[in-house]
Amino acid sequence: MNLTNYHSHCSFCDGHAPLEDFVKAAIAQGFTSYGISSHAPLPFSTRWTMDWSQMPDYLAECRRLKKKYAKEIELYVGLEIDYLNEDSNPAIDPFRNLPLDYRIASVHLLYDDNDEVVDIDCSLDKFRTIVDEHFDGDIMRVVCLYYKRLFRLVDLGGFDILGHADKMHYNANTYRPGLLDEPWYDTLMHDYFAAIANKGYMVEINTKAFHQLGTFYPNQRYWNLLKELGIRVLVNSDAHYPERINNGRAEALRALSDVGYTHVMELHQGCWKEVAITLS
Ligand SMILES: [Zn+2]
Ligand SMILES: [Zn+2]
Repeated sequence: MNLTNYHSHCSFCDGHAPLEDFVKAAIAQGFTSYGISSHAPLPFSTRWTMDWSQMPDYLAECRRLKKKYAKEIELYVGLEIDYLNEDSNPAIDPFRNLPLDYRIASVHLLYDDNDEVVDIDCSLDKFRTIVDEHFDGDIMRVVCLYYKRLFRLVDLGGFDILGHADKMHYNANTYRPGLLDEPWYDTLMHDYFAAIANKGYMVEINTKAFHQLGTFYPNQRYWNLLKELGIRVLVNSDAHYPERINNGRAEALRALSDVGYTHVMELHQGCWKEVAITLS
């Protein structure tokens, strides 16, 4: 039943429980393969990312749990790495040299006109304030900046899975209703997914907000396109709470099957494999 998840946080970053609690929850729910992907360090401290000083403990704890639960579940260690700028992204050596099983790449941050870092992966209210106060209400510019960074991330490489590929769409489309139907935006998305397909990355179907907001990332309207482009997908819950590791997974698998996907990617015996979708 494709009980896997590779996008999961824990108390090493902004997750709300120790790593072992996520592993125990995965075992209790019959998951066969599970990966931890704490937010990778940035050049500055934040409340949601790890610091480099924590890295040895993070890797050691993953190793300990892999061993402890080897008979019950396949455990993997990854990171969710941000594209911040040319000096801090998944392609740089400090990340490439880590002994990780896989890497997720995401964009959460933009620079405003004053070169100040702003976090656009936020609530709708906060997003409105940021667009209005940091970008003079120019949502089109914010959208373009966001995807420009994602294009650069895709170009630079150093990762396996693209995380929540169009996450900003929900806030942006609420800020400007109808945005997703605007031709320029649609063209941008087609170019974006074509670039991703060209590089051969896996794209996650991120289910984190499905129960609250009713949308996946990427938005379901692009799944036919993903299929046409031959993009391999996997279903990830981006869980920050152990009780949410399975949220939206069955719904995502059904919706993938509806657009013609027959397989999802799973990590088994250390290799990414295409596994047939089994609907519950
Ligand atoms: Zn993220
Ligand atoms: Zn995440």
